[in-house]
Amino acid sequence: MTELTVATHQSAELIDITGEVQHAVIAAGVKDGLCTIFVPHTTAGITIQENADPDVVTDMLYALDKAVPLCDSHYRHAEGNTAAHVKASLLGSSVNVLVKSGRLKLGTWQAIYFCEFDGPRTRQVWVTIK
Ligand code: ZN
Repeated sequence: MTELTVATHQSAELIDITGEVQHAVIAAGVKDGLCTIFVPHTTAGITIQENADPDVVTDMLYALDKAVPLCDSHYRHAEGNTAAHVKASLLGSSVNVLVKSGRLKLGTWQAIYFCEFDGPRTRQVWVTIK
């Protein structure tokens, strides 16, 4: 398993980690298999999304804010970051990507995004290739 460290710089942001994951695949020496990328946090998630137009991730953050407001008088969690927990669960804690000939087999416009919802923080991403 490879442990990646991701430093986030904003309260909410999507960070393209495809290059770091690809390096982990190369280091593992697996030519054909399945790469699992897991985020061990409850206020951050991971997703696969378009990397061609940066407005897509900006719009995703906007849409998530619309769907899950930062503040709501019905929230009970004392830490005050309920929205971050909900967004993390909506996007999920892991993604799987096929590995073929030592390369992540992503679609033309796809990238792997670490999704920060309660930053800035130093985060971990765990990668295994089988
Ligand atoms: Zn919390």
